[in-house]
Amino acid sequence: MERLRDRVAIVTGAGQGIGEAIARRFASEGAHVVVAEISPALGEATAATLRAETGTRAQFIRCDVADARSVEAMVAETIATLGAPDILVNNAGIAVFGDPLDITDADWARCMSVDLDGAWFCCRAVLPAMLARGRGSIVNIASNHSFQIIRNTFPYPIAKHGLLGLTRSLALEYADRGITVNAISPGYIDTPLNQRMFAENPDPEARRKVEAKQPVGRLGRPDEVAAVAALLASDEARFIVGANIVIDGGVTIRMYE
Ligand code: NAP
Repeated sequence: MERLRDRVAIVTGAGQGIGEAIARRFASEGAHVVVAEISPALGEATAATLRAETGTRAQFIRCDVADARSVEAMVAETIATLGAPDILVNNAGIAVFGDPLDITDADWARCMSVDLDGAWFCCRAVLPAMLARGRGSIVNIASNHSFQIIRNTFPYPIAKHGLLGLTRSLALEYADRGITVNAISPGYIDTPLNQRMFAENPDPEARRKVEAKQPVGRLGRPDEVAAVAALLASDEARFIVGANIVIDGGVTIRMYE
């Protein structure tokens, strides 16, 4: 199925993990994907793989989403090389976890600037082109942390709560002008981010213990998130406005046991 044939899609942080899976799924559905990634090595590799696998015009453009000028330059280059963006996925994100009173100002700023400011900078940069053409889909990768709290993960959930607020606010602002803005909230997904956290955990059983806490007994896969992103980016989802689709294997519907 090629629901995204010849659409131009920007996916931030698409060098690995969930973003890479979304970029791959979009390209397999016919989109020309901009891999907007901070790491040139990861970004180049993903774009080259997508071109080879799908024959689309996937392209790496280096971008630090926390830097408004970098974002504006990335969107300008997208328009110059591939055309106006039809789809934006705000996926780039970092986990900054700690005790509230141990967090430094730099930790706070780093978390907010990538996880929240970055998404806004990208929305602000693509919206004029989307509004001019009367169509566009924005998908924000939020988290279970957008509506539930785990102690000692401060301030990540604050940024992710804000990302849901951004989603709903922009969704309503532009609902009557052909733009959809929605969020996806993944639970525990098996990506390099989590693989790193397990590797750094002194408990060798850390991964197994997390898996045991999941109602389905495993972590989610990046391609399971990508499948929903493709739906939200497609014309099949034009009546889905300001939604937050939770993909977490049931973990947040469970009451304590
Ligand atoms: P990941 O494996 O760390 O991949 C994130 C990618 O984004 C990396 O390639 C990273 O590059 C890039 N990136 C980081 N900072 C950036 C910046 N300032 N500008 C542009 N690119 C940047 O992460 P993931 O697990 O796939 O997570 C992706 C998104 O899903 C994040 O927003 C995360 O909060 C959200 N999420 C993840 C999970 C999960 O369980 N994995 C659950 C809920 C929500 P470098 O590696 O070079 O820094």
